[in-house]
Amino acid sequence: MTTENAYSEAMLGTTRLSEAAGRVLTALEAAGSEAWIVGGWVRDALLGNAPGDVDVATSAPWQESEAALEVAGLRVRETGVAHGTVTAIIGHEGVEITTYRVDGPYEDGRHPAFVEFTDEIERDLARRDLTVNAMAWHPARGLLDPFGGAEDLEAGVIRAVGDPRARFEEDGLRVLRAVRFAARLGFSIEEETQTAVRELAPLLSRVSFERIGAELRGILAAGAGGWPLREEREAMFAAIPELAPMEGFAQRSRYHSLDVLDHVCRVMDYVEVYTGGVASEELRWCALLHDIGKPRTLWVDERGQGHFYGHPAEGMAMTDEILRRFALPHDLRRRITTLVRLHDRPVQPTRASVLSILADLDELCPGAAPHLVRELMVVKRADAMAKAPAYRDYALEVDELDRMARELLSEDAPYRVADLAISGSDILEASGRAPGPWVGEVLRTLLREVMAGGLADAPDALASRAATIARALA
Ligand code: ATP
Ligand code: MG
Repeated sequence: MTTENAYSEAMLGTTRLSEAAGRVLTALEAAGSEAWIVGGWVRDALLGNAPGDVDVATSAPWQESEAALEVAGLRVRETGVAHGTVTAIIGHEGVEITTYRVDGPYEDGRHPAFVEFTDEIERDLARRDLTVNAMAWHPARGLLDPFGGAEDLEAGVIRAVGDPRARFEEDGLRVLRAVRFAARLGFSIEEETQTAVRELAPLLSRVSFERIGAELRGILAAGAGGWPLREEREAMFAAIPELAPMEGFAQRSRYHSLDVLDHVCRVMDYVEVYTGGVASEELRWCALLHDIGKPRTLWVDERGQGHFYGHPAEGMAMTDEILRRFALPHDLRRRITTLVRLHDRPVQPTRASVLSILADLDELCPGAAPHLVRELMVVKRADAMAKAPAYRDYALEVDELDRMARELLSEDAPYRVADLAISGSDILEASGRAPGPWVGEVLRTLLREVMAGGLADAPDALASRAATIARALA
């Protein structure tokens, strides 16, 4: 069955409504329901940014939406019927359709005691968090904007819908959502909303770690460098309490002219500079958390100089704990903790030293060294630039390390036992001895010697050296 799409030419600004969304509107209206495009799509289309998923709000209860969509020949999934949501699947696109909703009272600072459905779009828009997210658009009826979202978009302002304090008290996550959208759009936060963000940030303690983690990932994905931590530290500290002791934490060290927090903000800025604003998620988390272990590891020597021995190991443990809390994907967490652990490891511009950092990366995060070494260099460069002026030229040395790492990788220089031109079974066979842990010991010794440059990675040279080592071990 084919469905006529009455809105196939519909545009908002320079953004065309997808054919899928047009078909959904047509299907719902054919059944006598009212429907609007709402939320993020409207915001992004007005900004001329590439819009994400389309969300549709409708007067129809979900059962009626489902029936109307099926009559129009569309596939439907019941993706959240408790909240009135079904999803139409059209080709590769999913369009969420949600019944107009008013939230019941919030009793716990994170979700409404119940949701109530309504047939008024204005009431649905009023429950939304920010004015820029509380607009509806219809291809024939145009923009519905009861809270001045378009004007705020124009002015670059993030403003809560209604009384910011009341809205944040309903759901503490909105504090972080305000920061996320300000970071992503490069907007400022309107004064009253900003005051509420500062004062009510502690409400985040009532919100689940999963929701906080998802917003934090969104904040980092905005690529705003140190801005969130510098300007919205109350919200960031409430989201990750371990960040707070970095504020005003004097480093008492000639290497540093800033406190730990300002240093971290600058590293976050430089990471964006060095990656052209498209740093990976692991780099951004690493920049945020690389010195998280410093406040706990300060040791002041007899001349009054501060040292932070062990801060990378402490930082790695703390980072792991924080990222587990937010249920970040396991692989991502491992890449981040690896970078935090090694960010301060000295590397010299020699083959041996660069190979040894590759080996360390591989040990902590097997298989990821070729990619992680490049990211580690970005962190090291950014870290150097955020130190006292006299120590910034280390960043130039990092350029040389980076060049060497690329060269070693392109010539397949060995940094793992498996890279050697000899295998465990070769060694066993040549020796005639029974297998045992000694084989691994021989291989590791060979690798160390090859990496140090004293032994060629060639089968004959390795075999004869292996025999000597094996004899010494016997
Ligand atoms: P994104 O492109 O990041 O997905 P979005 O605007 O679609 O942006 P979502 O988090 O997907 O953001 O939420 C969809 C819409 O639902 C928002 O535009 C907003 O209107 C509303 N919304 C989401 N979360 C909340 C919340 N915690 N409180 C109030 N309204 C919310
Ligand atoms: Mg969305």
